[in-house]
Amino acid sequence: AKADGRGTYRYFETGMDARAQARRILELDLRAALQRHEFEVYYQPIRDVASDEVVAFEALVRWNHSLRGLISPVNFIPLAEETGLIVQLGDWVLRQACMDATGWPDNVDVAVNLSPVQFKNPNLVSSVKAALRASGLPAHRLELEITESVLLQNSAATLAVLHELRGFGVRISLDDFGTGYSSLSYLRSFPFDKIKIDRSFVNELTTRDDSMAIVRAVTSLGKSLGIVTTAEGVETEAQFELLRREGCTQAQGYLFSQPRPAAEVNTMLSRPRAR
Ligand code: C2E
Ligand code: CA
Ligand code: CA
Ligand code: CA
Repeated sequence: AKADGRGTYRYFETGMDARAQARRILELDLRAALQRHEFEVYYQPIRDVASDEVVAFEALVRWNHSLRGLISPVNFIPLAEETGLIVQLGDWVLRQACMDATGWPDNVDVAVNLSPVQFKNPNLVSSVKAALRASGLPAHRLELEITESVLLQNSAATLAVLHELRGFGVRISLDDFGTGYSSLSYLRSFPFDKIKIDRSFVNELTTRDDSMAIVRAVTSLGKSLGIVTTAEGVETEAQFELLRREGCTQAQGYLFSQPRPAAEVNTMLSRPRAR
């Protein structure tokens, strides 16, 4: 049986297709990258629509690969989630983001993305507390962005964690709103502080009436529930104008700035928006 096992294993190694090999290499690389500190947090400004002021920055992780250069999170977050490495990576992002934010003006918050996998880690709440304590950042300046998929898994335990986080002052945002399944019922299951309207709707604001209707409905819903609405992926002045007219609270997108390294936060804060 032992020989069989080895034989099978060897067959698997040599017979592994190119995709699986590439994936295996990426996984080993990802582990090494955590040790070698090859990750960097970039920041994208979020503006208050009425005042035009920057009110927060979203932390977006980048991988500075020694050979392949800057790698987008869409190319490694899924693998980090499958391998569980996201727990370590996410904790690092959280600590880094809290630390960076202590150098910003008091009225500028930081938003950090949390993966559903991080909710399976029983230490999530203590990790968040530790990041706040280590940095000295007040809890009210930290926003955690979660997607609906977080609420799909073991929702009683997840809700308890969310309530505990919110209980000590951290704010919770519902990310990518409108892309999942039963969005509206989630708004009833937890008192979210913010809804982030997915980029796909904002993209089509000026070209599709149904996207416009959806954005209008979500902003109006936010208003009646007392929840801040943030439009993601605002790229044009025309989109921004429609969002302003609908009373959307905040806007984020390439129209204002792409995500940039921490060293450029001050420039992003002072630079008036190009019109
Ligand atoms: P997300 O949380 O929905 O983040 C917004 C994404 O939209 C970012 O992509 C941002 O660069 C991009 N974006 C912003 N404005 C515009 C725009 O006007 N036009 C277009 N076309 N895109 C825009 P990014 O940085 O590549 O991140 C992709 C996703 O990776 C994020 O989507 C998030 O799901 C995930 N991610 C990034 N950093 C982290 C992290 O630290 N932890 C976890 N768990 N996930 C992360
Ligand atoms: Ca996000
Ligand atoms: Ca999003
Ligand atoms: Ca997204």
